Amino acid sequence: MTHTAVPISFWIAIGNKLVPFRLLLTGIVFSILPDADVVAFKLGIPYESDWGHRGFSHSILFAFSLSVLACVLSARFRTRIEIVLLYLFLSIVSHGVLDAMTTGGLGVGFLIPYSSERFFFELRPIRVSPIGIKNFLTERGVIVLKSEWVNVWIPLLSVSVSIFFLRTLARRIRLARADENKNGTVGSTTRTRK
Ligand SMILES: [Zn+2]
Repeated sequence: MTHTAVPISFWIAIGNKLVPFRLLLTGIVFSILPDADVVAFKLGIPYESDWGHRGFSHSILFAFSLSVLACVLSARFRTRIEIVLLYLFLSIVSHGVLDAMTTGGLGVGFLIPYSSERFFFELRPIRVSPIGIKNFLTERGVIVLKSEWVNVWIPLLSVSVSIFFLRTLARRIRLARADENKNGTVGSTTRTRK
């Protein structure tokens, strides 16, 4: 579920006006969607296959195609189409980016279907998550959660909440200046009339 930290943080930083609530919910669903590919294990598809876990559903092409498809519904999101495309693309593609920073499993097939190569980044501070909710309720699950809080949630939320406060401050300063200018104009008009 840590993948949801990305769309949530973008939403906090950008604001409800550009990213309405419906788009946020879609971004949250899209950020976890690539892991629906764990069904591949049940279907007997090998991990290292392009259709296996961390394969095509974690690729850049999948993220782009799904975001373009979602743009068909852009009117329902009540924001600009380029915001829908960019926000949803970043929500999905960030899933693979975070997976490529984990300590285990196979790498991420960012370039499938053009290349089957699996990628990991040099920096891999996130403990790999166990598959299945049952496995999360163990000591290892707690260690993974702690690692995800420290390496994903806390940095992303710190940046996004700081941007939120800076935006709020900038808006208040703008409004105060607009008020000052308005009062100044009214004052000078009244003086001229006298
Ligand atoms: Zn994944």
